[in-house]
Amino acid sequence: AAHHASTVDRFEVRANDAARTDEERARLLESPAFGTVFTDHMARVTWTADGGWADRRVERYGPLSMDPASAVLHYGQEIFEGLKAYAHADGSVWSFRPEANARRFAASARRLALPELPVEDFLGSVEALVRTDRGWVPSGGETSLYLRPFMFASETFLGVRPAREVEYVVIASPVGPYFASGVKPVSIWVSTDYHRAGPGGTGAAKCGGNYAASLLPQQEAYARGCEQVCFLDATTSTLVEELGGMNVFVVGADGTVSTPELTGSILEGVTRSSILTLLAEAGHDVQERPIPLAEVRAGLEDGSVAEVFACGTAAVVTPIGRLASDEFDLTVGDGGTGAVTASVRAQLTDIQYGRAADPHGWMRRL
Ligand code: PMP
Repeated sequence: AAHHASTVDRFEVRANDAARTDEERARLLESPAFGTVFTDHMARVTWTADGGWADRRVERYGPLSMDPASAVLHYGQEIFEGLKAYAHADGSVWSFRPEANARRFAASARRLALPELPVEDFLGSVEALVRTDRGWVPSGGETSLYLRPFMFASETFLGVRPAREVEYVVIASPVGPYFASGVKPVSIWVSTDYHRAGPGGTGAAKCGGNYAASLLPQQEAYARGCEQVCFLDATTSTLVEELGGMNVFVVGADGTVSTPELTGSILEGVTRSSILTLLAEAGHDVQERPIPLAEVRAGLEDGSVAEVFACGTAAVVTPIGRLASDEFDLTVGDGGTGAVTASVRAQLTDIQYGRAADPHGWMRRL
């Protein structure tokens, strides 16, 4: 893929030494549980209202020192992103559509009244960190280096207004296959009591508050024997929106594929958009439209809905085997992984791991 502009050379590497020995790194890379192991460094840029973005750097990973009156701790002015770096068989390291994450990060910043990080700084920070911590990119199987860029209001001030001091940081975490036992269908609890976002709210932004709002319904889902929550629209409580951290697709028995349209309360997933492209190219009728829960329920009962799956960076494509709420408990298909779900998952991971051609130029070399 073409190399796009980035400011990687403007990131000063301030601590290039390894914090841990090769042996310890090898041990930590063996089978890390998601989000528990972090690399030796972090990329960082500081913003002030007076000076703009400055001090692009890569420093030793470690605790952030902050004042108890830092605005983010009180009003939650914070956004984040999630993307992965993949090792290919020849040893090269690539990311998947990072420009899309950079643009979404800027859109999230606008909604949270945070300063927009230029796309080339987002790309440069990711590139600088992955180059410094290249030894932490796992290889083999469905492993990757999960990258977590985030930005928060660091100003020491308790007034309610957009902060005039902001920190942008990228950390990285080696991750194994999302499900140790392979791709396993999950059970979904449809939340009728809670919503994650409403009209005019922050649902389309990737801000911490949306995830805080999803935790209680998520607990409810666990209590009902489900792994994830599906949220409905806050206006009518009749339309399927998305899961707490993944978008959702419905596959008809006739091969039609539908996903909820972007209403402003749904996060626009990079995986979602890639899947729309891949399925359209494969000849499916793909539709972004309002999807009534009643339609999905009826379709599961009469067989006109064949597959339902969730998608996102962390788990790529995850089959949904069961859909339940207080009022119903339905098995999707035979409860296993459907053919369209399996096929689109394989297509996407083949591109990400360099096993297939990349006709869309989605991969960016780091
Ligand atoms: N919806 C929500 C609420 C999410 O947190 C995520 C994960 N970023 C997604 C959808 C999927 O987005 P992506 O495919 O870009 O990871």
